[in-house]
Amino acid sequence: MNDILIQNTTRFFKEKFGNEPQKIVLSPGRINIIGEHIDYNDGYVLPAAIDKIICFALEKNHSKKSKIYAIDINDEFEFDLTKEIQLSHIVWTNYILGVVKQLQDNGFTLEGFNCVFSSNIPVGSGLSSSAALECGMIYGIKELFDLTIKKVDIALLGQKAEHWVGINCGIMDQFSSVYGLQNKVIKLDCKTLEFEYHEANFNDYALVLFDSNVKHSLFTSEYNTRREECEKGLLIIKNNFPAIKSFRDCTENQLLSIRDKMDKTVFKRVHYVIKEISRVSQACEALDNGNIELLGQLLFDTHDGLSNEYEVSCEELDMLVATAKENDAIIGSRLMGGGFGGCTINLIKKGKENEVKNKFSSLYLDIFGIELKFYDVKIGNGTSLFNLDK
Ligand code: ADP
Ligand code: MG
Repeated sequence: MNDILIQNTTRFFKEKFGNEPQKIVLSPGRINIIGEHIDYNDGYVLPAAIDKIICFALEKNHSKKSKIYAIDINDEFEFDLTKEIQLSHIVWTNYILGVVKQLQDNGFTLEGFNCVFSSNIPVGSGLSSSAALECGMIYGIKELFDLTIKKVDIALLGQKAEHWVGINCGIMDQFSSVYGLQNKVIKLDCKTLEFEYHEANFNDYALVLFDSNVKHSLFTSEYNTRREECEKGLLIIKNNFPAIKSFRDCTENQLLSIRDKMDKTVFKRVHYVIKEISRVSQACEALDNGNIELLGQLLFDTHDGLSNEYEVSCEELDMLVATAKENDAIIGSRLMGGGFGGCTINLIKKGKENEVKNKFSSLYLDIFGIELKFYDVKIGNGTSLFNLDK
């Protein structure tokens, strides 16, 4: 599938600019296996890059102007590198401008370039097409002009570009896009950026995402409330256990012992956080031991926590996970991402994928009148150069 994407992008580049591209860069989307809503609560996340990518074809054009073509939406724009970069009203161009601005603000002098790009990452479904766009663009510019930029700085500059566009995201998406490795998940401490790889061998199970095709508008307000509730809870924990500095130091028993000192809602949120932090470690162990059934159970447990304690699910996602629990071919399922819509991530017995998809799509359509979409994903490599001589 990616071969065709690369061929098309290259062909399009030649038609537009009359030359072979000098560089081809591939930049992936990401999934998160487990570790939801704990990046800002001092926990770990367990993301991986996927085999769905944005492909960029690039050349220097020996001027001070850059021309960018987005094949998928048949749109193009041009900008002048000698003028100050400003936000545009055309959203997609801001991700490119944001990246260029971050590079300039960090002391890199850029020359003009031509670029076309095309993608097979579903846009706006929580697979982080935006991080793939930022990190791929930075990588492309780095390769084209031979800039020295460390991997970690590609991720950080990508994150800053997204902030500039107006989305106050954490680092997980850009980090996963840059550091992804085939068949590895990344256990990442979002605070310190320390990380370790774990083998991602799912044995007889395939990863399939179910896209609920809904987005409830509660997300931003509820996200801010959750952050406040967790801060309140942490303060109470610290007051009772002065040795505890963050959620990761607190055991479930310690929390239970001070349950009556907390508002019921705050307790539920914090209980979810502490359990989820320990589930990420258990998930790594399960992967290390090849115990995929246990991993699957942990995904179900995370969903229960997100739905009942953290309360960031919705009826469509709850229905998908409840139906998955009853299906013998599915050993794990949970909402992935911030919640209130987007995708569920599922571990499905290999060979049973089509049967499961047929069942789920007709049921979902019957109940909600909405089409369910499916994405088969494999774990792939991080942002990299495609070898043009191959
Ligand atoms: P997600 O990152 O979950 O896919 P976002 O809303 O964060 O969703 O980012 C999606 C935005 O990124 C799109 O609205 C668009 O501006 C930009 N984008 C992503 N992929 C492409 C693409 N192939 N062509 C043009 N713009 C894209
Ligand atoms: Mg995004």
